Amino acid sequence: MEFPIHLRSSPPASAHGAIVGHRVELQLLTTLKCNLKCSYCSLGVGDVLGSQTHVEYDVDQLETFARTHLAGKEVVVTFYGGEPTLNRPMMIEVMRRFAQWRFQLQTNGTLLDDLPRWLLARLSNVLVSIDGGEATTDGYRGRGIYRQVLKNLRQVRAQIGGSVTARVTWGNPATSFEELDELVAEGSPFDYLYWQFVADEKYFDDAVERRKAVLAELIERFFARSDGLYPLIPLMGIVRNKLLPGRAQELYAGRTQCRVSTHLLNVMPDGQIFPCPDMMYVPAMLMGSVKGNWLKPSPLQLTPSMPCHGCEAFAWCRGNCMKNLYLGYVKNDTRYRGSVVEPICELLRFIGREIDRHDPQAWFARLSLPARRALTDCEVYEYVEVMP
Ligand code: SF4
Ligand code: SF4
Repeated sequence: MEFPIHLRSSPPASAHGAIVGHRVELQLLTTLKCNLKCSYCSLGVGDVLGSQTHVEYDVDQLETFARTHLAGKEVVVTFYGGEPTLNRPMMIEVMRRFAQWRFQLQTNGTLLDDLPRWLLARLSNVLVSIDGGEATTDGYRGRGIYRQVLKNLRQVRAQIGGSVTARVTWGNPATSFEELDELVAEGSPFDYLYWQFVADEKYFDDAVERRKAVLAELIERFFARSDGLYPLIPLMGIVRNKLLPGRAQELYAGRTQCRVSTHLLNVMPDGQIFPCPDMMYVPAMLMGSVKGNWLKPSPLQLTPSMPCHGCEAFAWCRGNCMKNLYLGYVKNDTRYRGSVVEPICELLRFIGREIDRHDPQAWFARLSLPARRALTDCEVYEYVEVMP
């Protein structure tokens, strides 16, 4: 089987070294503390959660790092955690010092109403973690959280400068079409819904079939209108990739759209840098340090041992979650492969076939120009993994 060159060799370094392309996303973990205890939190793996509660590098060191390794790049910062708003002073210092950068906040939404107005106005996107409807969300996050988050969001929505995206980890096989649809219904504070299939053993019995039934409804709903878009990022992104396959590659040099192989830097509070926020406990993934002012190319790349190149979805998927593929096919964890990675790939291929059933080309031809533009150029694609 023939693999593209980049699957075999190490990536070509950019003019500035380790970053591929002209953009970079700095995911700054302001703390590893959180004020909630979500039952599925990925930072619980390897005891990462709560392990670093204050930032050990200063903003001058961050500036030196940026000058050395990111000069000439378009920089987006995502404030991440733990719960990033627990360290507001760091957010404020970074936003003041690097006012020319774009900023995104990934938050559980419980403390949003404590943020200053000027800061909210500077956020290009706010990703708010929520798990679906009230019962599902409170089941994972604690009683009353769903209502508190929605109330906070309604209070600050008008002050947020950019978009607000519901970020759902689809962990519960019982999650319904209605509860996802409700998140983007008329009057909702969310502009978009983005979901990822949970990276956990939640695909037993009929769990895959139940998710397929919900996906079929979501896709039906997506193609039911052509006067505007049903704002579900993974469906928008996959339809875009099917219509314009080049878009699946251009920001990522043909590698994974989750950015870990090209231009995503997760900076731990101690200044160490890893490509994927879920693998900060794996020493082999260390790729740099703000304090030490060094950076090397991401070690998290597609390899020939992964099944993507022979997959029907490859042209638009380009390799979904690299953490999953790495654990399943490089670490050869066959249990994880069979109970997590393969079911998710099956769901992805199902989405692709359902989309094809609705003749996306004919639908696109009917779309108004603003809706086409929203489908092809939505800014949120730059801030999330695109694939679920
Ligand atoms: S569906 Fe799975 S195997 Fe296929 S390209 Fe995507 S990640 Fe790779
Ligand atoms: S999608 Fe990418 S960033 Fe997210 S967990 Fe997987 S590898 Fe990490």
